[in-house]
Amino acid sequence: MDYVEIKDLVVFAHHGVFQQEKELGQKFVVSARLYLDTEAAVTEDDVNSSVHYGEAALEMTKFLQAESYNLIEAAAGRLAEHLLLTYSLLRKVQIRLAKPWAPVGLPLNEVAIELCRSWQPAVVALGSNMGDRKAHIETALKALDENQAIRRLASSTLMETPPYGVTDQADFLNAAVLIETMLSPHALLTFLQKVETSSGRVRTRHWGPRTLDLDLIYYSDLILHSEDLTLPHPEMQKRDFVLKPICEIAPNYVDPRYGLPVSELLARLVK
Ligand code: AMP
Repeated sequence: MDYVEIKDLVVFAHHGVFQQEKELGQKFVVSARLYLDTEAAVTEDDVNSSVHYGEAALEMTKFLQAESYNLIEAAAGRLAEHLLLTYSLLRKVQIRLAKPWAPVGLPLNEVAIELCRSWQPAVVALGSNMGDRKAHIETALKALDENQAIRRLASSTLMETPPYGVTDQADFLNAAVLIETMLSPHALLTFLQKVETSSGRVRTRHWGPRTLDLDLIYYSDLILHSEDLTLPHPEMQKRDFVLKPICEIAPNYVDPRYGLPVSELLARLVK
């Protein structure tokens, strides 16, 4: 992807673990790669179709001077997030933040951190079969919308479905949303779990009734097996109450395990 580059911008700021760094301040050198689609800027030759590098450099300076972080990791990471939120054309931001005068008492040239943040597509499935099911799902959608690091791109209709696994329980209301997020997969899972808990989630038995269930189905094209997160969500290909809502909003989302679109997974399931 194309990028606009701002190289070696010097900013006097107050980041550091030592009190003296917070009080006296020091020189930082920051570089940014701002990734975006430049097609419109090339065709229209208009600064409004791109990111104005002068304004972005000023924004970076103001951001780094507004707060005092202990770590250059925190300063760089939050700067990357701030730029992604400020400039809607940006898909990805790479930051390099260097501290040439780092007070380590040794003759080094500089210390630096380099990191990357980007908008990634993801699919979340929602379900409820206790209490006011529609209200639980709407509360979850509102919570997603209130998180700046998440943008809801499409939402399915609410579908009434019979329970899966343990069948002696009430019918579910299911839905799915396509989002883009700058959260990491684990941070997104943690957020979803927080929303489940704050909806007063109660679940008495495994696969039993629940006020709100939020599952991370896909995160980009990631395949992951970690202790608390499996991606794509395991078994989703066997569940029509997951596949049907996704097919409404993103039938062409390719499942990275099979290299097949979700519409094909559903067609194979109902065969
Ligand atoms: P459940 O509430 O039945 O959906 O199960 C939640 C548990 O599954 C939690 O312990 C999660 O850490 C784990 N888990 C693993 N992969 C996923 C995923 N893709 N989405 C949601 N929960 C997951």
